[in-house]
Amino acid sequence: MDINARNIATPVADAPTTQPVSVPAPVAGRFAPSPSGRMHLGNVFSCLCSWLSARSQGGSIVLRIEDLDDRCKRPELAAQLIDDLAWLGLEWDEGPYYQHDRLDLYESALRRLQDAGLTYPCFCTRAELHAASAPHASDGTPIYRGACRGLSAEEVARRSALRAPATRLRVPAVDDLADDVVEFVDRTYGAQCEALATECGDFLVRRSDGVFAYQLAVVVDDAAMGVTEVVRGCDLLGSTPRQIYLQHLLGLPTPHYAHIPLLMSPDGRRLSKRDRDLDLGELRARFGTPEALLGWLAGQTGIAPDATPRTAEQLVEHFSWDVIRAHRENITVTAE
Ligand code: GLU
Repeated sequence: MDINARNIATPVADAPTTQPVSVPAPVAGRFAPSPSGRMHLGNVFSCLCSWLSARSQGGSIVLRIEDLDDRCKRPELAAQLIDDLAWLGLEWDEGPYYQHDRLDLYESALRRLQDAGLTYPCFCTRAELHAASAPHASDGTPIYRGACRGLSAEEVARRSALRAPATRLRVPAVDDLADDVVEFVDRTYGAQCEALATECGDFLVRRSDGVFAYQLAVVVDDAAMGVTEVVRGCDLLGSTPRQIYLQHLLGLPTPHYAHIPLLMSPDGRRLSKRDRDLDLGELRARFGTPEALLGWLAGQTGIAPDATPRTAEQLVEHFSWDVIRAHRENITVTAE
């Protein structure tokens, strides 16, 4: 596995056996959208790359709706998302699975980490965590300095009576004998390396409101669903070392990772959900057919040589990671 294991906590007991390396698993990609709003062009592009990559290797796709967070508990938005993917012709082979149906799995993974003494309750408030002086990790979350790491049992009991704690996972301490880093090779962005202790800190596996953290749920689900290839927006590149560390602790296989460049407007702005004209409702109305939209997007992003209307299936022969890699610093999209 792509992890420098020196001085990193050993995996917890009862780890499931992984596939022997000599038997390559069939490629399985996934869509893992959060139904927090309508899909926008960036989501479409990530899903398209995920689909094209899997299909170009004869692989399959799993659809998982990531609806743990309250703002994602919107069945009508999940239904819309599923309809949008079907309209685009990005067919999936398994699912949809819903994370809200899978809480037992997250609970048992968390229990294994807890039983191995790798977690602790954290009472820090949002304001304390986001104090102006707090340095931030690459994904914008504050680096946790371990304020609650060494609380006595009495202190934990006293504070628990006042407010419910979150749960954090201990990351290995850096010492001068070993640089404890997680290393992996991203298919788009190349070799990556993060020292969890200094660049991330102990991270949340469960929030104080009881919601399982994204990092834990995604790791449990990707393994349970046999995902071998994670293709997603590069805003999640910084989460990957945490996920690989959790896989290591839980004895789960590490999939391949490929992060997709964010789409930019010609004035250098990142396209986002705020660009209403790029949400899929507007785009469906404007382009009329999935072929017109996908062909245009493929032409804009360099996947296809021109903007000829094409189905997702017809784009498979054009797809190559070299193109995505060549544009990794900047993919500019000019709205028609
Ligand atoms: N659910 C996340 C999102 O929609 C993606 C998670 C992932 O791909 O790992 O941003």
